[in-house]
Amino acid sequence: MSQVQPGPAPDPVRALLRAAADGAAEYAAGVDARRVAPDPAALAGLAAFDEPLPEVGVDPLATLRLLDGAGGPATVASTGARYFGFVTGGSHPAALGASVLTAAWDQNAALPVMSPVAARLYDVVAGWLVDLLGLPTGTRPVFVSGATVANAACLAAARDAVLAGMGWDVQADGLFGAPPFEVVVGEQAHSTLSKSLGLVGLGRDRVTVVPADDQGRLRADALPRSRGPVLVCAQAGEVNTGAFDPFDAIADWLAERSGWLHVDGAFGLWALADPGRAGLTAGLDRADSWATDGHKWLNVGYDCGIAFTRRTADLHRTFAAVAGYLPAATGPDRFDAMHHTPQSSQRARQFEVWAVLRSLGRAGVADLVTRTCTVAATIADGLRAGGLIVLNDVVLNQVLVRLHDGPTTEALIAAVQADGRIWCGPTRWDGATAMRISVSSWRTDLDDAATAVATVLDCAARLRG
Ligand SMILES: *Cc1c(COP(=O)(O)O)cnc(C)c1O
Repeated sequence: MSQVQPGPAPDPVRALLRAAADGAAEYAAGVDARRVAPDPAALAGLAAFDEPLPEVGVDPLATLRLLDGAGGPATVASTGARYFGFVTGGSHPAALGASVLTAAWDQNAALPVMSPVAARLYDVVAGWLVDLLGLPTGTRPVFVSGATVANAACLAAARDAVLAGMGWDVQADGLFGAPPFEVVVGEQAHSTLSKSLGLVGLGRDRVTVVPADDQGRLRADALPRSRGPVLVCAQAGEVNTGAFDPFDAIADWLAERSGWLHVDGAFGLWALADPGRAGLTAGLDRADSWATDGHKWLNVGYDCGIAFTRRTADLHRTFAAVAGYLPAATGPDRFDAMHHTPQSSQRARQFEVWAVLRSLGRAGVADLVTRTCTVAATIADGLRAGGLIVLNDVVLNQVLVRLHDGPTTEALIAAVQADGRIWCGPTRWDGATAMRISVSSWRTDLDDAATAVATVLDCAARLRG
């Protein structure tokens, strides 16, 4: 008697992931042909999501298709070559590929025992990053969700270290009744630095604010006369101008006191990878800690921040957790991410960082920085020649421009955003609105610079005429 053999079992997971990969590939391949900001029809299409919670589950493949079909057109094409808004990196193919693959792995990078591959690639990428940026021997990175959290992590470790030196144990006793110490920030520190200071209990407003110069650099001659200890928050890359604080002068000033020098280098820290920018970065390696983003200039996906410190034991004091089921101590040969970061469970952000660093190499990262800075300078030259006012010294990847005055610039920004070829946003500078152009994507080249200049000048001509 013949038996009917069952056919091969359908493999819904494979079909779903193939569909996801196809959708991702179509999106990535077509992103440069799109409008940068979604058009009104795409926004109207978001109504497809307005449904009640299904009483019974819907097929994952149909769900994925709805996400792709209605969601994809309503994205901002910030991975394309012509997005100049905020400080927004693109998505390097190496990072995207690693992200798609490792999403299936879903590794928890909290402890080496939870993911040997995450632990090994952490070790590799930690060494590469410190080498690439020329940070002091003994410096270690940890991965967090962004520069805001990287700043907060470093500031928390600094807080605990400074107060330990004053005989106070913050982890045991909190900040109630702790001896006060001075916190110094530059006048043009990033808005999120205040949030980080508030989060770690040092206060958004209880800081000594040092005046800045016309480029937003902290003025070292205006540092306070205080005796210390002091926690100084300096900046590599002012978010409007790209300017760098005078690190040597700040470090010299701090050397006469005790304390901690932290640098917010959310995008600017990558200038350390470009030998041509050594003048800008002088003294930057004299800090105790540095915060940066992977998701901005390095062009890895969201969310990826990196906190570096040469005082790893201070990070451990602040973030170590204790439980019966956790490995007890961190030895020199083993690094537990969860005992050095605000999170416990965490995504293995090192996979994407490793993939990008390996595909670019030292020369490729330097070239990424140089090229985007050249594009920024080219855009600035073109806009200046077209009658706009360039407000900053274009020392990095940021260009700050104004057309006539603040209100005219607001109209210009609205026109540029509606045009759709490029996207730039507003900021306030010197009491009036300015337009900010940030060149942070690996894809952006001199042709895109020409498109950016042509778009802005077309819009300006329409406003004038
Ligand atoms: C973007 C930025 C931040 C905040 O970074 P997130 O990754 O958004 O948390 C902090 N400081 C500076 C200078 C920045 O440019």
